[in-house]
Amino acid sequence: MGKRDYYEVLGVPRVAPKDEIKRAYRRLAKQYHPDMAKGDKKQAEERFKELSEAYEVLADDDKRKLYDAYGHDGLKQQVWGGQDFDWSRFTHYGDIEDIFGADVFSSFFGRSPSGGSLFEEFFGPRQRRRGPRRGRDLETEVMVSLEDVAHGARRELHIPRIAPCRECNGTGAHGGRFVTCPECKGRGQVSRAQTRGFTQVISITTCPRCGGRGQWPEVACSTCRGAGRVETTSTLQVEIPAGATDGLRLRVPAKGEAGDPGGPPGDLYVLVQVQEHPQFRRDGGDVVLEWPVTFTQAGLGADIEVPTLDGAAKVHVPAGTQSHTLLRLRGKGLPDLETGRRGDLLIRVIVVTPHRLTAEERRLLEKLAQLLGDYARRPKSFFEKLR
Ligand SMILES: [Zn+2]
Ligand SMILES: [Zn+2]
Repeated sequence: MGKRDYYEVLGVPRVAPKDEIKRAYRRLAKQYHPDMAKGDKKQAEERFKELSEAYEVLADDDKRKLYDAYGHDGLKQQVWGGQDFDWSRFTHYGDIEDIFGADVFSSFFGRSPSGGSLFEEFFGPRQRRRGPRRGRDLETEVMVSLEDVAHGARRELHIPRIAPCRECNGTGAHGGRFVTCPECKGRGQVSRAQTRGFTQVISITTCPRCGGRGQWPEVACSTCRGAGRVETTSTLQVEIPAGATDGLRLRVPAKGEAGDPGGPPGDLYVLVQVQEHPQFRRDGGDVVLEWPVTFTQAGLGADIEVPTLDGAAKVHVPAGTQSHTLLRLRGKGLPDLETGRRGDLLIRVIVVTPHRLTAEERRLLEKLAQLLGDYARRPKSFFEKLR
Protein backbone atom coordinates (compact mmCIF):
# COMPACT_ATOMS: atom_id res chain seq x y z
CA MET A 1 0.00 0.00 0.00
CA GLY A 2 1.47 3.32 -1.06
CA LYS A 3 1.84 6.26 1.25
CA ARG A 4 -0.90 8.82 1.18
CA ASP A 5 -0.18 12.32 0.12
CA TYR A 6 0.87 14.35 3.16
CA TYR A 7 -1.43 17.26 2.26
CA GLU A 8 -4.30 14.84 1.96
CA VAL A 9 -3.42 13.29 5.29
CA LEU A 10 -3.64 16.66 6.98
CA GLY A 11 -6.57 17.76 4.84
CA VAL A 12 -4.92 21.01 3.74
CA PRO A 13 -4.34 22.49 0.28
CA ARG A 14 -0.83 22.37 -1.18
CA VAL A 15 -0.51 26.10 -0.76
CA ALA A 16 -1.57 26.08 2.89
CA PRO A 17 0.50 28.40 5.06
CA LYS A 18 2.43 26.98 8.00
CA ASP A 19 -0.06 27.96 10.69
CA GLU A 20 -2.90 26.30 8.84
CA ILE A 21 -0.88 23.08 8.67
CA LYS A 22 -0.20 23.40 12.35
CA ARG A 23 -3.88 23.93 13.21
CA ALA A 24 -4.91 20.97 11.08
CA TYR A 25 -2.35 18.78 12.76
CA ARG A 26 -3.38 19.83 16.26
CA ARG A 27 -6.99 19.11 15.56
CA LEU A 28 -6.37 15.70 13.98
CA ALA A 29 -3.70 14.66 16.46
CA LYS A 30 -6.12 15.17 19.30
CA GLN A 31 -8.71 13.15 17.48
CA TYR A 32 -6.46 10.23 16.68
CA HIS A 33 -4.04 10.08 19.56
CA PRO A 34 -4.00 6.40 20.59
CA ASP A 35 -4.71 7.21 24.23
CA MET A 36 -7.66 9.40 23.41
CA ALA A 37 -9.15 8.01 20.25
CA LYS A 38 -12.49 6.27 20.45
CA GLY A 39 -13.07 2.99 18.65
CA ASP A 40 -10.36 0.99 16.90
CA LYS A 41 -7.10 1.76 18.73
CA LYS A 42 -4.90 0.10 16.17
CA GLN A 43 -6.39 2.12 13.38
CA ALA A 44 -6.12 5.31 15.39
CA GLU A 45 -2.48 4.61 16.08
CA GLU A 46 -1.74 4.10 12.39
CA ARG A 47 -3.59 7.28 11.61
CA PHE A 48 -1.71 9.17 14.27
CA LYS A 49 1.64 8.01 12.96
CA GLU A 50 0.65 8.99 9.48
CA LEU A 51 -0.43 12.43 10.69
CA SER A 52 2.73 13.01 12.63
CA GLU A 53 4.91 11.93 9.76
CA ALA A 54 3.06 14.28 7.42
CA TYR A 55 3.39 17.14 9.85
CA GLU A 56 7.03 16.37 10.48
CA VAL A 57 7.64 17.03 6.80
CA LEU A 58 5.23 19.81 5.98
CA ALA A 59 6.11 21.92 9.00
CA ASP A 60 9.75 21.94 7.98
CA ASP A 61 10.51 24.32 5.10
CA ASP A 62 13.40 22.26 3.73
CA LYS A 63 11.58 18.95 3.90
CA ARG A 64 8.43 20.45 2.48
CA LYS A 65 10.41 21.74 -0.49
CA LEU A 66 11.88 18.29 -1.04
CA TYR A 67 8.49 16.70 -0.77
CA ASP A 68 6.87 19.18 -3.12
CA ALA A 69 9.63 18.55 -5.66
CA TYR A 70 10.19 14.80 -5.39
CA GLY A 71 7.32 13.34 -3.38
CA HIS A 72 7.83 10.53 -0.89
CA ASP A 73 10.79 9.05 -2.74
CA GLY A 74 12.76 12.25 -2.52
CA LEU A 75 12.31 12.27 1.23
CA LYS A 76 13.20 8.63 1.65
CA GLN A 77 16.54 9.07 -0.04
CA GLN A 78 17.39 12.46 1.26
CA VAL A 79 16.03 12.35 4.72
CA TRP A 80 15.98 8.81 5.90
CA GLY A 81 18.79 7.34 3.87
CA GLY A 82 16.53 4.98 1.98
CA GLN A 83 14.93 3.56 5.10
CA ASP A 84 11.30 3.80 5.85
CA PHE A 85 10.30 6.18 8.52
CA ASP A 86 11.08 4.28 11.67
CA TRP A 87 8.73 5.61 14.23
CA SER A 88 10.03 3.64 17.16
CA ARG A 89 13.49 5.16 16.89
CA PHE A 90 12.26 8.67 17.47
CA THR A 91 11.91 9.74 21.03
CA HIS A 92 11.45 13.39 20.47
CA TYR A 93 11.45 15.87 17.70
CA GLY A 94 11.61 19.58 17.60
CA ASP A 95 8.19 21.08 17.19
CA ILE A 96 5.92 18.73 19.02
CA GLU A 97 5.60 20.60 22.30
CA ASP A 98 4.97 23.60 20.20
CA ILE A 99 2.05 21.80 18.58
CA PHE A 100 0.30 20.82 21.74
CA GLY A 101 1.62 23.45 24.10
CA ALA A 102 1.34 23.35 27.86
CA ASP A 103 -2.29 24.50 27.84
CA VAL A 104 -3.34 21.77 25.47
CA PHE A 105 -1.33 19.30 27.46
CA SER A 106 -3.20 20.20 30.63
CA SER A 107 -6.52 19.81 28.96
CA PHE A 108 -5.48 16.36 27.78
CA PHE A 109 -4.09 15.06 30.99
CA GLY A 110 -5.36 17.34 33.68
CA ARG A 111 -1.91 18.08 35.01
CA SER A 112 1.14 20.05 34.12
CA PRO A 113 3.84 18.65 31.85
CA SER A 114 6.15 18.35 34.90
CA GLY A 115 9.14 19.20 32.80
CA GLY A 116 8.91 16.13 30.61
CA SER A 117 8.52 16.43 26.88
CA LEU A 118 5.08 15.83 25.56
CA PHE A 119 6.35 13.45 22.98
CA GLU A 120 7.84 11.35 25.67
CA GLU A 121 4.53 11.41 27.46
CA PHE A 122 3.04 9.84 24.38
CA PHE A 123 5.70 7.46 23.27
CA GLY A 124 8.36 7.19 25.92
CA PRO A 125 8.66 4.10 28.06
CA ARG A 126 5.64 3.84 30.37
CA GLN A 127 7.79 3.21 33.41
CA ARG A 128 9.73 6.39 32.88
CA ARG A 129 10.75 7.77 36.20
CA ARG A 130 9.22 11.03 37.20
CA GLY A 131 11.13 12.47 40.11
CA PRO A 132 12.23 10.51 43.18
CA ARG A 133 10.89 7.00 43.46
CA ARG A 134 8.65 5.75 46.24
CA GLY A 135 10.12 3.04 48.46
CA ARG A 136 9.15 -0.58 48.04
CA ASP A 137 6.38 -2.11 50.12
CA LEU A 138 7.43 -4.88 52.46
CA GLU A 139 5.50 -7.83 53.79
CA THR A 140 6.02 -9.93 56.86
CA GLU A 141 4.06 -12.65 58.63
CA VAL A 142 3.07 -12.88 62.24
CA MET A 143 1.71 -15.98 64.04
CA VAL A 144 -0.95 -15.49 66.68
CA SER A 145 -2.87 -17.85 68.95
CA LEU A 146 -6.62 -18.01 69.40
CA GLU A 147 -6.11 -16.38 72.80
CA ASP A 148 -4.49 -13.44 70.96
CA VAL A 149 -7.47 -13.30 68.65
CA ALA A 150 -9.81 -13.24 71.65
CA HIS A 151 -8.12 -10.36 73.38
CA GLY A 152 -5.97 -8.63 70.80
CA ALA A 153 -2.22 -8.65 71.07
CA ARG A 154 0.88 -6.64 70.50
CA ARG A 155 3.90 -7.99 68.70
CA GLU A 156 7.39 -6.71 68.35
CA LEU A 157 8.68 -7.12 64.82
CA HIS A 158 12.24 -6.93 63.60
CA ILE A 159 12.16 -5.94 59.97
CA PRO A 160 15.31 -5.87 57.85
CA ARG A 161 14.75 -2.94 55.52
CA ILE A 162 16.19 0.06 53.84
CA ALA A 163 15.30 2.98 56.07
CA PRO A 164 15.85 6.72 55.74
CA CYS A 165 19.26 7.73 57.06
CA ARG A 166 18.75 9.36 60.46
CA GLU A 167 21.92 11.37 60.20
CA CYS A 168 20.71 13.42 57.23
CA ASN A 169 16.95 12.84 57.57
CA GLY A 170 16.98 10.86 54.36
CA THR A 171 18.19 13.78 52.28
CA GLY A 172 21.68 12.41 51.65
CA ALA A 173 23.11 15.87 52.31
CA HIS A 174 25.32 16.73 55.24
CA GLY A 175 23.52 19.47 57.17
CA GLY A 176 20.68 19.38 54.65
CA ARG A 177 22.49 21.76 52.30
CA PHE A 178 22.18 21.36 48.56
CA VAL A 179 23.59 22.86 45.43
CA THR A 180 22.07 22.78 41.95
CA CYS A 181 22.90 19.52 40.21
CA PRO A 182 25.86 20.20 37.91
CA GLU A 183 24.80 17.50 35.47
CA CYS A 184 21.30 18.72 34.64
CA LYS A 185 21.60 22.31 35.89
CA GLY A 186 18.63 21.71 38.16
CA ARG A 187 16.25 20.51 35.47
CA GLY A 188 16.19 16.93 36.70
CA GLN A 189 16.49 15.66 33.16
CA VAL A 190 19.24 15.45 30.62
CA SER A 191 18.78 15.51 26.88
CA ARG A 192 21.01 14.18 24.16
CA ALA A 193 20.66 15.45 20.61
CA GLN A 194 21.49 13.44 17.52
CA THR A 195 21.12 14.56 13.96
CA ARG A 196 19.74 12.10 11.52
CA GLY A 197 19.41 13.55 8.07
CA PHE A 198 17.24 16.59 8.48
CA THR A 199 15.80 15.28 11.68
CA GLN A 200 17.13 16.16 15.05
CA VAL A 201 16.44 13.37 17.50
CA ILE A 202 16.50 14.42 21.13
CA SER A 203 16.29 11.80 23.81
CA ILE A 204 15.39 12.97 27.28
CA THR A 205 16.09 10.93 30.37
CA THR A 206 15.99 11.45 34.10
CA CYS A 207 19.27 12.90 35.26
CA PRO A 208 21.42 9.95 36.28
CA ARG A 209 23.31 12.00 38.80
CA CYS A 210 20.55 13.53 40.90
CA GLY A 211 17.80 11.04 40.05
CA GLY A 212 15.50 13.84 38.87
CA ARG A 213 15.71 16.05 41.94
CA GLY A 214 17.74 18.73 40.23
CA GLN A 215 19.73 19.15 43.42
CA TRP A 216 22.89 17.65 44.70
CA PRO A 217 24.23 17.52 48.27
CA GLU A 218 26.76 20.23 48.91
CA VAL A 219 28.58 17.69 51.07
CA ALA A 220 27.40 14.09 51.02
CA CYS A 221 26.22 12.64 54.33
CA SER A 222 29.02 10.47 55.66
CA THR A 223 26.68 7.85 57.16
CA CYS A 224 24.78 6.99 53.98
CA ARG A 225 27.34 8.37 51.47
CA GLY A 226 24.69 10.61 49.99
CA ALA A 227 22.15 7.88 49.32
CA GLY A 228 19.80 9.11 52.05
CA ARG A 229 19.09 5.50 52.95
CA VAL A 230 20.74 2.85 55.05
CA GLU A 231 20.23 -0.87 55.49
CA THR A 232 19.00 -1.55 58.96
CA THR A 233 16.77 -3.76 61.04
CA SER A 234 13.86 -1.79 62.38
CA THR A 235 12.09 -2.82 65.53
CA LEU A 236 8.47 -1.87 65.64
CA GLN A 237 5.35 -2.69 67.57
CA VAL A 238 2.31 -3.89 65.77
CA GLU A 239 -1.16 -4.24 67.25
CA ILE A 240 -3.04 -7.39 66.36
CA PRO A 241 -6.69 -6.42 66.64
CA ALA A 242 -9.06 -8.63 68.64
CA GLY A 243 -11.04 -10.77 66.23
CA ALA A 244 -8.24 -10.97 63.66
CA THR A 245 -8.86 -13.64 61.07
CA ASP A 246 -6.34 -15.97 59.47
CA GLY A 247 -4.92 -14.21 56.42
CA LEU A 248 -5.78 -10.71 57.63
CA ARG A 249 -3.35 -8.14 56.16
CA LEU A 250 -2.49 -5.18 58.32
CA ARG A 251 -0.97 -2.11 56.73
CA VAL A 252 1.62 -0.17 58.67
CA PRO A 253 2.03 3.09 56.74
CA ALA A 254 5.50 4.32 55.83
CA LYS A 255 7.28 1.36 57.42
CA GLY A 256 8.33 -0.20 54.13
CA GLU A 257 11.56 0.72 52.43
CA ALA A 258 12.70 4.29 52.15
CA GLY A 259 12.26 5.89 48.74
CA ASP A 260 14.81 7.91 46.85
CA PRO A 261 15.72 11.07 48.72
CA GLY A 262 12.63 13.24 48.55
CA GLY A 263 10.41 10.29 47.60
CA PRO A 264 7.83 8.75 49.94
CA PRO A 265 8.54 5.49 51.78
CA GLY A 266 6.67 2.28 51.03
CA ASP A 267 4.31 0.59 53.45
CA LEU A 268 4.72 -2.53 55.57
CA TYR A 269 2.08 -5.22 55.31
CA VAL A 270 1.72 -7.67 58.17
CA LEU A 271 0.04 -10.92 57.27
CA VAL A 272 -1.71 -12.42 60.31
CA GLN A 273 -1.68 -16.19 60.61
CA VAL A 274 -3.77 -17.80 63.30
CA GLN A 275 -2.26 -20.96 64.75
CA GLU A 276 -4.34 -24.05 65.22
CA HIS A 277 -5.28 -24.50 68.84
CA PRO A 278 -4.78 -27.87 70.54
CA GLN A 279 -8.21 -27.69 72.18
CA PHE A 280 -10.36 -25.07 70.52
CA ARG A 281 -11.60 -24.99 66.99
CA ARG A 282 -12.75 -21.72 65.48
CA ASP A 283 -16.13 -21.58 63.82
CA GLY A 284 -16.59 -17.95 62.74
CA GLY A 285 -17.14 -16.05 65.96
CA ASP A 286 -17.85 -19.22 67.91
CA VAL A 287 -15.31 -21.58 69.39
CA VAL A 288 -15.96 -25.31 69.66
CA LEU A 289 -14.50 -27.42 72.44
CA GLU A 290 -14.90 -31.18 72.71
CA TRP A 291 -15.01 -32.16 76.35
CA PRO A 292 -15.28 -35.65 77.87
CA VAL A 293 -17.77 -36.39 80.64
CA THR A 294 -18.29 -39.68 82.33
CA PHE A 295 -21.26 -41.90 81.74
CA THR A 296 -22.56 -41.09 85.22
CA GLN A 297 -22.01 -37.31 84.91
CA ALA A 298 -24.03 -37.37 81.73
CA GLY A 299 -26.68 -39.56 83.32
CA LEU A 300 -27.03 -37.84 86.67
CA GLY A 301 -26.09 -34.32 85.65
CA ALA A 302 -23.02 -32.48 86.97
CA ASP A 303 -21.26 -29.14 87.25
CA ILE A 304 -17.98 -29.45 85.42
CA GLU A 305 -15.09 -27.11 84.82
CA VAL A 306 -13.97 -26.46 81.26
CA PRO A 307 -11.18 -24.36 79.77
CA THR A 308 -12.16 -21.22 77.86
CA LEU A 309 -10.13 -18.53 76.08
CA ASP A 310 -10.57 -16.49 79.28
CA GLY A 311 -9.48 -19.19 81.71
CA ALA A 312 -11.50 -21.97 83.39
CA ALA A 313 -15.29 -21.69 83.66
CA LYS A 314 -18.04 -23.76 85.24
CA VAL A 315 -20.71 -25.29 83.11
CA HIS A 316 -23.73 -27.37 84.10
CA VAL A 317 -24.26 -30.67 82.32
CA PRO A 318 -27.96 -31.46 82.69
CA ALA A 319 -29.01 -34.94 83.78
CA GLY A 320 -29.65 -37.19 80.82
CA THR A 321 -27.26 -35.41 78.43
CA GLN A 322 -26.52 -37.46 75.35
CA SER A 323 -23.06 -37.72 73.85
CA HIS A 324 -22.24 -34.97 71.29
CA THR A 325 -24.78 -32.56 72.77
CA LEU A 326 -23.64 -28.95 72.44
CA LEU A 327 -23.68 -26.80 75.55
CA ARG A 328 -23.38 -23.07 75.01
CA LEU A 329 -21.42 -20.57 77.07
CA ARG A 330 -22.52 -17.16 75.80
CA GLY A 331 -19.93 -14.50 75.11
CA LYS A 332 -16.97 -16.83 75.55
CA GLY A 333 -16.20 -17.05 71.86
CA LEU A 334 -14.23 -14.65 69.68
CA PRO A 335 -14.92 -10.98 69.12
CA ASP A 336 -16.04 -9.70 65.75
CA LEU A 337 -13.26 -7.70 64.09
CA GLU A 338 -15.58 -4.78 63.46
CA THR A 339 -18.24 -4.76 66.17
CA GLY A 340 -16.21 -6.40 68.94
CA ARG A 341 -19.25 -8.52 69.84
CA ARG A 342 -18.14 -11.90 71.07
CA GLY A 343 -19.47 -15.23 69.88
CA ASP A 344 -20.10 -18.25 72.09
CA LEU A 345 -18.13 -21.21 73.35
CA LEU A 346 -19.83 -24.42 72.25
CA ILE A 347 -18.94 -27.41 74.38
CA ARG A 348 -19.47 -30.69 72.62
CA VAL A 349 -20.06 -33.21 75.40
CA ILE A 350 -18.42 -36.56 74.69
CA VAL A 351 -19.73 -39.33 76.95
CA VAL A 352 -16.92 -41.69 77.84
CA THR A 353 -17.82 -45.30 78.42
CA PRO A 354 -16.05 -46.76 81.47
CA HIS A 355 -13.41 -49.38 80.83
CA ARG A 356 -10.97 -51.36 82.98
CA LEU A 357 -13.37 -51.52 85.87
CA THR A 358 -12.55 -52.42 89.45
CA ALA A 359 -14.45 -55.33 90.95
CA GLU A 360 -16.73 -52.95 92.87
CA GLU A 361 -17.50 -50.85 89.78
CA ARG A 362 -18.17 -53.96 87.80
CA ARG A 363 -20.60 -55.26 90.41
CA LEU A 364 -22.50 -51.97 90.43
CA LEU A 365 -22.68 -51.80 86.66
CA GLU A 366 -24.00 -55.33 86.48
CA LYS A 367 -26.68 -54.36 88.97
CA LEU A 368 -27.55 -51.34 86.85
CA ALA A 369 -27.65 -53.50 83.77
CA GLN A 370 -30.25 -55.71 85.39
CA LEU A 371 -32.40 -52.68 86.17
CA LEU A 372 -32.10 -51.13 82.71
CA GLY A 373 -32.55 -54.28 80.65
CA ASP A 374 -32.37 -53.46 76.97
CA TYR A 375 -33.05 -49.80 77.77
CA ALA A 376 -31.32 -48.41 74.70
CA ARG A 377 -34.00 -49.93 72.47
CA ARG A 378 -36.83 -48.28 74.33
CA PRO A 379 -37.93 -44.79 73.30
CA LYS A 380 -38.23 -43.25 76.78
CA SER A 381 -35.43 -41.41 78.45
CA PHE A 382 -32.83 -43.65 79.97
CA PHE A 383 -32.55 -41.78 83.23
CA GLU A 384 -36.18 -41.61 84.14
CA LYS A 385 -35.65 -45.04 85.61
CA LEU A 386 -33.00 -43.80 87.94
CA ARG A 387 -35.11 -41.10 89.47
ZN1 LIG B 1 20.73 16.28 37.93
ZN1 LIG C 1 22.66 10.16 55.51
